[in-house]
Amino acid sequence: MKKPIAPSEKTLLSRVEILNQRIQEAKKYDLYPYMHSSDAVEGVHVTVHGRPMLQFASYSYLDLLGHPKINTAAKNAIDEFGTGTHGVRFLAGTTRVHLELEKKIASFKKTEAAVAIASGYGANFGTISSLMGRHDVVISDKINHASIVDGCILSRAQFVRFDHNDMAALERALDSTSAKGGVKLVVADAVFSMDGDIINLPEVIRLCRKFKALLMIDEAHSLGVLGKKGHGIEEHFGIDPAEGLIDIKMGTLSKTIPSIGGYIAGSTQLVNYLRHSIRPFIFSAAIPPPAAAAAKTAFEVIEDEPWRVEKLHKNADYFLKTLQTRGFDTLKSQTAIVPIIIGDEAKALEMTRLARNEGIFIVPILPPAVQPNTTRIRATVTAGHSLQEIDRAINTFEKIAKSLSIIRS
Ligand code: PMP
Repeated sequence: MKKPIAPSEKTLLSRVEILNQRIQEAKKYDLYPYMHSSDAVEGVHVTVHGRPMLQFASYSYLDLLGHPKINTAAKNAIDEFGTGTHGVRFLAGTTRVHLELEKKIASFKKTEAAVAIASGYGANFGTISSLMGRHDVVISDKINHASIVDGCILSRAQFVRFDHNDMAALERALDSTSAKGGVKLVVADAVFSMDGDIINLPEVIRLCRKFKALLMIDEAHSLGVLGKKGHGIEEHFGIDPAEGLIDIKMGTLSKTIPSIGGYIAGSTQLVNYLRHSIRPFIFSAAIPPPAAAAAKTAFEVIEDEPWRVEKLHKNADYFLKTLQTRGFDTLKSQTAIVPIIIGDEAKALEMTRLARNEGIFIVPILPPAVQPNTTRIRATVTAGHSLQEIDRAINTFEKIAKSLSIIRS
């Protein structure tokens, strides 16, 4: 493969040309790994370009995608309401199904109320940018999701980032900033989407209370994943949600919940404010009723089928420990998201291609999504994998990684 264009040469070509050149180059060597379409999906078994594969890049952590009860709920909602709505939620787009979904989210997250927005991205971006303003300070973990970062920037609040999961750095940030009559908000992912590690919530809560800061936690990758019953990060740390120590609980309906959308759960007052101010809620269309009905039913299935969370925990533990035993660097992951550090971009692309040739679907994560020296395969495990399937994936990774000198032979 041709050497990538060095940053200093970038001025010679437009960004568009550079990107297209990189894509063409990768495609020439069959190394372009993105947007491959699945022709069929059956749990963790997918068919990509006619080739059967085992899915190891899914967000469907509890294997709820295709669950019969959830499918039926979606079909019934189509019969009742059709496939779309009469527009945005704020005006004519709210249906009974949306209100039922919000009630279910609030009861699952043990808050007074919840609001559902058509994307998780919009939930983060819209909430932070509408709540925070010029006189406020927002303090964000350095590897928080892009939707948080974008919301912080748009809010025009003072935007301070602290080193990833570093509580001394968070304390310094809280101590050294002044909200000048405004408020301070600390915001963090519960489970970090690229690293799979968990925010030190008890310490974050202590610091927020000490410095009188509000706290927002993004549960995109912890809903259904953390806690014995999958209720999320508070359950994981044994914190009583009724204490209200997390002011703003955000989550998505597009990962463990096999649908589309995001939510904010919190006090009635907060949710009411957001219903009247989040721009993606007011100016963008409602979640389609079948998707809302599917999401609501998925929360019920998590409660009715607790074995799924147990199996996910067992699988994640086994996957992580076995990879480490075989010599892979998995950073500080503790969850179903497992980064396999490769370092070299070309090797990560080659490992992806070879693994897919052997029927294991994985995705590489390249800079700028992660630091250049931490280019990785981000593998995910779900409740739908058997131990034999996990072994098959690990054996494949080991064989390829040895052949590419990623790990020692
Ligand atoms: N937060 C995190 C941590 C995420 O990983 C994602 C999606 N990858 C989002 C928010 C946005 O969610 P959605 O895809 O539902 O818009």
